Amino acid sequence: MTAGAETAAVSRALAVRTAELSGNLSGLLARIDAACRGTGRAAETVRLLPVTKFFPASDVAILHRLGRREFGESREQEAAAKVAALREEDLSGIRWHMIGRLQRNKARAVARWAQTVHSVDSERLATALDAGALAALEAGDRTEPVRVLLQVSLDDDPSRGGVASGDLAALAEQVAAAPGLCLSGLMAIPPLGAESDAAFARLATLHTRLLADHPDATELSAGMSGDLESAIEHGATVVRVGTALMGARPITSA
Ligand SMILES: *Cc1c(COP(=O)(O)O)cnc(C)c1O
Repeated sequence: MTAGAETAAVSRALAVRTAELSGNLSGLLARIDAACRGTGRAAETVRLLPVTKFFPASDVAILHRLGRREFGESREQEAAAKVAALREEDLSGIRWHMIGRLQRNKARAVARWAQTVHSVDSERLATALDAGALAALEAGDRTEPVRVLLQVSLDDDPSRGGVASGDLAALAEQVAAAPGLCLSGLMAIPPLGAESDAAFARLATLHTRLLADHPDATELSAGMSGDLESAIEHGATVVRVGTALMGARPITSA
């Protein structure tokens, strides 16, 4: 191919992907809108968090041009590489969310790029993330504490991530007192095979209880491609959507 033909092929591919993401985005925003109307909520009380894991930085750049500013990632190394690539393009105002399981030894790295972490589920992880946040603040890698959502287990099965509901209050106290962290709300993933309505109803109850002690922890991260309507009905303020926006992931075990 000549250089000219190559450039034309690249811009054609970009136009095709832009049209695809734009169409999916409109459909998704309409779904969220309908879900809000169905349950009597104002549309602006629910935010869409595009989940861009396994998709390239170029997709994030397209979504940025389409007006999106928040993005969710689930693996530290992949996210850090994307953040670095996009920093060179100087896209303004991006807020990155870490939504995947986080190992303590990655907490320091995550604190350099994540505005919000959705998956804090243990005192040890909270301690490591607080230390990472303070180091990142000190180094000028961030200007504000890390917003923290506590991931709660809806079946109290510790093997799949999430703090057991009985340990939630103590973890919330710890995060609220940590200078590098800002307790912002709850996150959950319904247990495999569970009925999402029942799971999200339980999450809503736990959130109401948390709000009694921590009235600023208003964020409720719940709902994905397949169950966002149910999550919105039960009070979700942010829905984390991958597949319905980006298309099928090359690998689905994340
Ligand atoms: C991948 C992922 C999502 C997005 O799931 P989809 O079903 O593709 O919309 C949401 N939340 C978490 C924690 C994820 O890892």
